Amino acid sequence: MITVSNKRIYLSSPHMSDEGYEMQYIQEAFDTNWIAPLGKNVNEFENEFADKVGSKTAAALSSGTAAIHMALKAAGVGEGDIVFCPTLTFSATANPIIYQNAIPVFIDSDNETWNMSPKALEEAFEKYPNVKAVIVVHLYGLSANMDKIMDICKKHNVPIIEDAAESLGTYYKGKHTGTFGDYGIFSFNGNKIITTSGGGMLVSDNEERISKVRFWATQSRDPARHYQHSELGFNYRMSNVVAGIGRGQLKILDKRVEKKKYIYEFYKRELTELERVAFMPINDWNNPNYWLSSITLSGKVRPLDIMEALEKENIESRPIWKPMHMQPFFEKYDYFGEDIAENLFNNGICLPSDTKMTDDDLNRIVEIIKGLWK
Ligand SMILES: *Cc1c(COP(=O)(O)O)cnc(C)c1O
Repeated sequence: MITVSNKRIYLSSPHMSDEGYEMQYIQEAFDTNWIAPLGKNVNEFENEFADKVGSKTAAALSSGTAAIHMALKAAGVGEGDIVFCPTLTFSATANPIIYQNAIPVFIDSDNETWNMSPKALEEAFEKYPNVKAVIVVHLYGLSANMDKIMDICKKHNVPIIEDAAESLGTYYKGKHTGTFGDYGIFSFNGNKIITTSGGGMLVSDNEERISKVRFWATQSRDPARHYQHSELGFNYRMSNVVAGIGRGQLKILDKRVEKKKYIYEFYKRELTELERVAFMPINDWNNPNYWLSSITLSGKVRPLDIMEALEKENIESRPIWKPMHMQPFFEKYDYFGEDIAENLFNNGICLPSDTKMTDDDLNRIVEIIKGLWK
């Protein structure tokens, strides 16, 4: 096949609604001169978001990372506390543990979910029974094995924080990811399934804790006329303009999930016949958002071969996250498990999953990949 087009194809890029919903909400903020701080878009985005995922309440923040930081603080994590964290994740999951001067202990994945291994989690509890919080991540829109993980955490009476940054639109047994734990966080960073250009959300059924987070996130200003502070403050709130983008994007979330699923099924149909290719695990209790279509390779063709062949044609792809226990900054911390996350990192690749791709784009990609098997 001769490639006629060489237009850039992204891994996952911002995709505003065809209807222009985002601009309508932004325009409203301009018309009322309510650009910042907070305002109607922020309040409504929080309400609409909480409704969408089925949580009692939500706080709109400046990033998903800020949301994890606030969740840890709300869960009472402080200096010297142990926090369990999956090793296979983006560093933004683990960094806020350090912001709180706490100590991360990393947990391996399992092959069944690519997410936290319940077995490794139990081993970690044996050595560290006094854990302050457990962070669970739902990578690439695949949900973790929540029943098992929650059973283990309940037994030890430890709060769960779900990092659902990549799993907005993902349901586990019919319930939205991010609403199982005591806290759930979401990200609206540029490459996530919906974006506000940058932003995050913290959800919880604990209204008292969420209003406390709103207080901390606006510099911990005590209710006094003068500037009075009895606690450390943060500047972590979302702006009213950014929240307008979020309200518009939320309206078309289901459409984006539909397209992400279409992309995954396209790859599956076209690439499944290739030798030694395995697709990311879709369990029957899992209703994923298919954020990034990912595969692992166990034959002669390596992830780097695919990445280089695609890059030559101006197409973006990337490796699976490099585990935290292998990172120079984090390798000094304890780790439980085998080498499952490491194997996923060594053998995995995230294929282009941009929702603006056409069938022609997808055909271009699969032809390039298939070419490596010839
Ligand atoms: C994107 C992401 C975050 C961080 O979100 P930001 O909004 O970029 O701060 C955290 N955890 C995971 C797993 C992510 O993919």
